[in-house]
Amino acid sequence: MRYAEVSVNAPVAQRRTFSYAIPPGLSVGVGQAVWAPFGEKLLQGIVLELSPYPAVEETRDIAGIIDPYPLLSSPHISLARWISQYYLSPLFDAVALMLPPGFERRVVTFISPSPNQYDPSSLSKQQGYILELVRRQGKVSVRQLEKSLGKRRAQAIVSQLVSRGLAVRSYEMEKVKVKPKMLPYLCLRVTPDEARQEAARLRQKRGHKQASLLDFLARQNEPVPLAEARQRTNCDRAVAEALVSKGLVSIQQVEVKRGPLARQEVTSSQPLRLTAAQESAFKSIQSSLREMTREHGSPPVFLLHGVTGSGKTEIYLQALAETVRLGKQGIVLVPEISLTPQTIERFASRFPNRVAVLHSQLSLGEQFDEWHRIRNGEADVVIGPRSAIFAPQPDLGLIVIDEEHEWTYKQHDKSPRYHARDVAIKLAELTGAVVILGSATPDVETFYHAQKGSYRLLQLPERVVPSEHSPLPQVTVVDMREELKAGNRSMFSRPLSQVIDKVVANGEQAILFLNRRGAATHVQCRNCGYVLRCRRCEVSLTYHLAEGNLVCHQCNYRIPVPQICPQCLSRRIRFLGAGTQKLEQETSYAFPRAVLMRWDSDVTRQKHSHQEILNRFRAHEADILIGTQMIAKGLDLPEVTLVGVISADTGLNLPDFRAGERTFQLLSQVAGRAGRGILGGEAIIQTYSPEHYAIQAAAQHDYALFYKKEIDYRRQLHNPPFSRLASLIYTHTNDMLCQREAERVKRLLIDERDAKGIADLTLIGPAPAFIHRLRGRFRWQLVLRGSELSAFLSEIPFPQGWTVDIDPVGL
Ligand code: ADP
Ligand code: ZN
Ligand code: ZN
Repeated sequence: MRYAEVSVNAPVAQRRTFSYAIPPGLSVGVGQAVWAPFGEKLLQGIVLELSPYPAVEETRDIAGIIDPYPLLSSPHISLARWISQYYLSPLFDAVALMLPPGFERRVVTFISPSPNQYDPSSLSKQQGYILELVRRQGKVSVRQLEKSLGKRRAQAIVSQLVSRGLAVRSYEMEKVKVKPKMLPYLCLRVTPDEARQEAARLRQKRGHKQASLLDFLARQNEPVPLAEARQRTNCDRAVAEALVSKGLVSIQQVEVKRGPLARQEVTSSQPLRLTAAQESAFKSIQSSLREMTREHGSPPVFLLHGVTGSGKTEIYLQALAETVRLGKQGIVLVPEISLTPQTIERFASRFPNRVAVLHSQLSLGEQFDEWHRIRNGEADVVIGPRSAIFAPQPDLGLIVIDEEHEWTYKQHDKSPRYHARDVAIKLAELTGAVVILGSATPDVETFYHAQKGSYRLLQLPERVVPSEHSPLPQVTVVDMREELKAGNRSMFSRPLSQVIDKVVANGEQAILFLNRRGAATHVQCRNCGYVLRCRRCEVSLTYHLAEGNLVCHQCNYRIPVPQICPQCLSRRIRFLGAGTQKLEQETSYAFPRAVLMRWDSDVTRQKHSHQEILNRFRAHEADILIGTQMIAKGLDLPEVTLVGVISADTGLNLPDFRAGERTFQLLSQVAGRAGRGILGGEAIIQTYSPEHYAIQAAAQHDYALFYKKEIDYRRQLHNPPFSRLASLIYTHTNDMLCQREAERVKRLLIDERDAKGIADLTLIGPAPAFIHRLRGRFRWQLVLRGSELSAFLSEIPFPQGWTVDIDPVGL
């Protein structure tokens, strides 16, 4: 094989590879990273195929090897090709998903002197000056020359020197900058005995927090990370600082080398004895896993359908254990890694030291180390968000996707716009791995496949409860129209108020859910009706209480609240619509005795605060937790006996065919938060459309009811799963040009469709996108509905400015 087909890291390469010759003496394998000359430049590339003939007549030589080991396995190469074809993304974007973290680095070009003799008088002044500099320093980066001479001039001179044989170019990869990780540690400055005596003295003076921190430190034989000490003794930094000022303790910065699971004490755990329902589900999975080791057929996809707490995770764990017994490894995808530390702990304790975690919040160095650990076969289980599906497990046997209906599995904001579930199923086909999709509220499309028999449905009908208490919370739907009629204009219906009062009086906990941040969702002039909007995006601005600003939730544009209407100069500016901040304020007025805590992305900008808020609420530092949809995800809070949904209608009226499904999923999840402990619990849903099937079905915990209605609507309107969709968005700073281009492409698509005689393809639009203006650019959208959309669209030339999203999660 003398030629290689290489996917190069250049935007113009699009969806194709380029042929390169392999110079004699260089050994190049499939999946290997190489340097490929491309125009004037040297680019990173991955060899996808070897062949005895080039695809074109003229080829250049591969310039060198980047990494001696192949980085992509052959299933991963096929997967990358599939992603590029299906999602219409540049091939290298797809390949890059599977490369080690930090791989994509810029190449730094250097020039160094050659030993050739030359006549100085034949050089221009600048040429001579630079050659002199290069000779003196031995090696100079071209970028450095560009800085002092300007890009054009520097490159011209370098080319002249090189072509005259007076200097040579060489290339090096930019260095990875891995920062050492420093953490504050607490060290005792006295002996443990002295610390205990001091703690006793502090206690007499009612310094309980300081005393318990001192006692804790006295029990440790070594310095302890400040964060850990705070968590274990439930104190804040001020307590530690008080001890520092007393000279008892010092705070030191210590460099920590860590994988994501390091310094977590894992107590190993044993498999549980399965319930009858779990056992029968597990047996099906087990026999498929065993079958797949014997023959390479197409592996099954299981849908494990069971409410939260029905024991799905235990099945994942045991299926993974079986996979490991068969000599293979697994990948577990979770919707959002920062919300799932408890889940990670469970996996880590079942597979001590054999779990790897991959996500973007790790430092580059950590990610890099984890990636190599995985490739060396040292991780039986990889856990991570959608991108973890590309982890280089050497012999993949099982893929688990927990909460498979979550839309965080779709990469919607950058190329490739892949859905991790579809990628997983493709990867499973290529590797012979079994797939388990788990959910309490499966995606309608997934359930449809399970009904048809293309996936295998496994049901866990009940919660595995520790006692005989009610398995699922009682849900009450409150019609807010009736409240209005009765003269109640507050955010709390009478039934909800009563129960909150009771919960607070009994010392239990409640969660109040509202899927909107901020204090007011829009600010309007009562005189002329003018609504304050973002200047760049045209969405209405949301009022944020603490900072007193109006904020755009699309682009973060902020302005102070105007005193008078910009349009009619009236002073009658009103705040309308309620967000979580407003809810917090109202709750504090209505229930003055309750201690409140708020949890939304305004509160949790920092890295660890999800876990902190959760721990504090679990430790009962507050009676009522107020939050957005984050609250709905994966928490186990045994003292919560009430979940109140302030408005179930927020998502229902969005112009999206998935609005009903989203609402059902969210309400089911939120309602499932109540009654996780032995106290039992209830949920109250407030709504202006109590008869809506999504709300009814969620209230009755009845997935089948929801599915039956929803799939009928989908069939009638010919929406997925009865068709596929593609969303095509064009952006431009000029609204009219934007619309014109969208119309031009529409005509092009129609001509193409008619020429090919494709019957089932329809076009909707062009129309202004739901967010018509984003960061100063206008957006027009076309929606395609049909079956073979990727193949059809792959032949259309889309100019710059277009994005194509196949199987969009929202319209
Ligand atoms: P899910 O993933 O469906 O939410 P989990 O697997 O987390 O359910 O199970 C819910 C709770 O029940 C967990 O605390 C788990 O430890 C416990 N559990 C699960 N299976 C069993 C079992 N077979 N016997 C006893 N407890 C179990
Ligand atoms: Zn006005
Ligand atoms: Zn904006």
